[in-house]
Amino acid sequence: MAYCYTIDSDLCKGCGLCVSVCPKDVLEISNEINTKGYYPAYQARAQDCIRCTMCCIMCPDVAITIVKKDECGQPNMVEAK
Ligand code: SF4
Ligand code: SF4
Repeated sequence: MAYCYTIDSDLCKGCGLCVSVCPKDVLEISNEINTKGYYPAYQARAQDCIRCTMCCIMCPDVAITIVKKDECGQPNMVEAK
């Protein structure tokens, strides 16, 4: 089953909670600033993601979305194998 994994960088405030809970060390904080002036998280090692959803659960700003490929409706969603 293919999934779309998305971090909305403009919702992210760079708190790093998702980075700290990821069991596969997938996430990092970007060096590029977002529209709110924060450094957002991104999937630095997307190939290692097991879609456990821990990052989604922990994010206080609901910036992370994982949905089945069939449900990918947004053009900025990235397909994860
Ligand atoms: S879904 Fe799980 S493995 Fe993938 S980035 Fe989030 S916490 Fe890490
Ligand atoms: S937990 Fe949410 S707000 Fe915090 S760095 Fe991760 S995506 Fe951004």
